[in-house]
Amino acid sequence: SNWKREIKLSATPCSVRNHVVLVTGAVGFIGAHASVALKRRGDGVVGLDNFNPYYDVTLKSARKSNLLDPEGVFVVKGDINDGELLRELFDLIHFTHVLHLAAQAGVRYAMINPNSYIKSNIDGFVNLLEVVKSAVDQPAIVWASSSSVYGLNSKVPFSETDQTDQPASLYAATKKAGEAIAHAYNHIHGLSITGLRFFTVYGPWGRPDMAYFFFTKNMMNQKHIKIFEGANHGTVARDFTYIDDVVKGCLSAIDSAKKSTGNGKKKKGEAQFRIINLGNTSPVSVHKLVRTLEKLLKVKAKKKVVLMPRNGDVPLTHADISLARMELGYEPSVDLGTGLKKFVKWYLDYYGDEKSSWR
Ligand code: NAD
Repeated sequence: SNWKREIKLSATPCSVRNHVVLVTGAVGFIGAHASVALKRRGDGVVGLDNFNPYYDVTLKSARKSNLLDPEGVFVVKGDINDGELLRELFDLIHFTHVLHLAAQAGVRYAMINPNSYIKSNIDGFVNLLEVVKSAVDQPAIVWASSSSVYGLNSKVPFSETDQTDQPASLYAATKKAGEAIAHAYNHIHGLSITGLRFFTVYGPWGRPDMAYFFFTKNMMNQKHIKIFEGANHGTVARDFTYIDDVVKGCLSAIDSAKKSTGNGKKKKGEAQFRIINLGNTSPVSVHKLVRTLEKLLKVKAKKKVVLMPRNGDVPLTHADISLARMELGYEPSVDLGTGLKKFVKWYLDYYGDEKSSWR
């Protein structure tokens, strides 16, 4: 049928790398950018996404029609919990890699809908791993963990060898669980798995639930912005990482991924298991973030400082990226000023004078 022809076309690589990548969460912020980058360099790409309504679905559809469609990236609308659909997809297409980005993201929403985190980040991940495990030629997996696993760890910069046993939110707990699950599948089934711990990724087509985005929205609409400060933590700061840098890291992780060694055929220690920080390694305070947005938007922010940390938030994130440098040749190249300028340009372009909603 027609969609089968389209999906096969989208999955056909046209570079010597010969990669065929399934990108889950393909109409999400990072997934859309990564899919385009993979397709542009000649990898075969198929997207999968359930278009969940956690935030504005219009924005997801717009990423599809503005970023993915023009590049010829085919997106299957479906859930990673749908085993039958996944198996059908894996029967149809011989994936060499899975870039697994589908997840219930966000720290605060876990207070409202805890089960969505279990469903997508744990059940869905296991379901995907089961299908990958049963595939004839098991693809290597690169997936999104998160800096949030460092939780209440206060030793900075955060290194992959630091303890991660004090998650500060259910979101962080599910990402931490994902790392443990990934390890078990690597150990037992010989799957090659790389977990990337992303640090506050931002940029054009970004996520409306993230601070830089809703600060921009509120400032454009002359609304107050709340700044939460832990009394004993001092100023909240984040290791903001620009989307293009993160995408480069994802692509290098795919390129340096070893082949899965396969069910039963595995010799101990053979399959690759990696956990790597992908950050910018220069944290910026939330006050500096607001000052930068003020300059770019030419608007004075109406700040409300709340002397209390926000529930589930950690005071500081800061990536040690020496492992990423070594393993992936990763080097972040965009500072917050430059990256926010691109975000703001996109924001004004996309929303114009319209008020944006974050849900
Ligand atoms: P996003 O919410 O924009 O993208 C995730 C996409 O996955 C969404 O389009 C959603 O519809 C889809 N999805 C969710 N559950 C699904 C399911 N069960 N089946 C199919 N599709 C499903 O988020 P993002 O910012 O692009 O994040 C991508 C990944 O990176 C996530 O795993 C997230 O936890 C992780 N991450 C992001 C950041 C960041 O700062 N953006 C930081 C750390 C980790």
